[in-house]
Amino acid sequence: MPKIKLKMKNKKPAKEDIQKMKKEKAAKVQSKVEQPIKEKKIKAPRSFQTLKGMKDILASENKYWEYVKTKAKNFALNYGYESIETPILEETALFNRAVGNETDIVSKEMFSFVDQGEENVCLRPEATASVVRSYVQHGMLNLPQPVKFFYFGPMFRYDRPQAGRLRMFHQIGLEAIGEESPIIDAEIIFFVYNFLKDLGLKTVIEINSIGCPKCREAYKTKLINYYRDRKSGLCEDCQKRLVKNPLRLLDCKEEGCQAYKEDAPQIVDWLCDECKNHFVGVLEYLDESGVIYNLNPRLVRGLDYYTKTVFEFFPDNADGVEKRQDALGGGGRYDGLVEYLGGRPTPACGVALGLERIILKLKENNIEIPALRKPDIFLAQLGEQARKKSFILIEELRKSGFYVVHSCSKKGLKKQLEMANKDGVKYTLILGQKEVIDGTIIVREMEGGAQEIVDFNKTVQEMKKKIILQ
Ligand SMILES: [Zn+2]
Ligand SMILES: [Zn+2]
Repeated sequence: MPKIKLKMKNKKPAKEDIQKMKKEKAAKVQSKVEQPIKEKKIKAPRSFQTLKGMKDILASENKYWEYVKTKAKNFALNYGYESIETPILEETALFNRAVGNETDIVSKEMFSFVDQGEENVCLRPEATASVVRSYVQHGMLNLPQPVKFFYFGPMFRYDRPQAGRLRMFHQIGLEAIGEESPIIDAEIIFFVYNFLKDLGLKTVIEINSIGCPKCREAYKTKLINYYRDRKSGLCEDCQKRLVKNPLRLLDCKEEGCQAYKEDAPQIVDWLCDECKNHFVGVLEYLDESGVIYNLNPRLVRGLDYYTKTVFEFFPDNADGVEKRQDALGGGGRYDGLVEYLGGRPTPACGVALGLERIILKLKENNIEIPALRKPDIFLAQLGEQARKKSFILIEELRKSGFYVVHSCSKKGLKKQLEMANKDGVKYTLILGQKEVIDGTIIVREMEGGAQEIVDFNKTVQEMKKKIILQ
């Protein structure tokens, strides 16, 4: 019996059987293939996009960002402003209190939420409140005054996205806390004016004083009386402003509200002596420095914390066409804020500039931006041993300050030289099998293609002779 079985097993299958087996196998494979596909479909990978009003800053943009940031930082250091970084997430109440509940920023535009610890938090819509919070929290009152801060970072406002206006945008800012002299207001204005000029951007400075709580109250009453008689002609927002935030009536962008602004009472006529003297002081310093400015009696800035001087910087249209543009930045004095956030009464002044808007203007005006640093050396290698040796050499070159690039994959020499050309390096180092054995390396000058062989152990020294590092 076993024999027969054996025979059966060894018996060649009939043609039909083979076909049947093939079919069965195919069906099996089919079902195997099908099943995971079905599962995959359920968990199908989806692609993602940035949120509305948010942007990736890609490598192609880098030179603009680096240029503006570096220049700002150097300027800030020259003017005696030191860097500060505060958290992006803060207690929502900080901004409710500092910026004001009735402002657009707080009432409509905050990214706020309750976190896992039931804390009411938000992504900062601006940084002045945070810097003042930090000043109070760390007792910087005890440092020599004024304490001068420079910051850079993202801010968040749930605004309607449009050109130059994003929901996550970046600001460069200065805050000088602990100085009441108008010289600080003038210095900050002068800083921004020079900084933008240095970038190649012409600006128009608009300036006003919105007084202190004492003199502003009387002015507000006057303003409300003026607008109350014209209430029916005002836009919906302005009708609300009349009750909640009357100064902002002067700030309305609606067409229908413009005419009323002309005859509206001007705050400069209502300033108390202290505020008047301060404002005159700022203007005198500006006159002294030769900065051109426009007095704008309707400039109020949107935020509650401002006192006395307020100012904004607008791009100067070379074509002379009068069109309302977004400000590149703005700021002012906020003498009450430190006390309002729990500190002692402390005068202060600051400014914030929109980085995206500045970059947009640089592009619009075709202003040439210096290219980012190019690599100095490309290291080409052939063969396993050379690759290992070059790995160490690259680190040595980098330690000596050279900017070195190389190909990580096993590309041929021709491909690697093409890459070196594309990177724009002056020299390529070539390490092949022969050089590894000889203890040498080839230095190729890319322009002209002249090559010389040098001692491998002296590569760094040789390259130092050829490339003068900045
Ligand atoms: Zn006053
Ligand atoms: Zn209006």
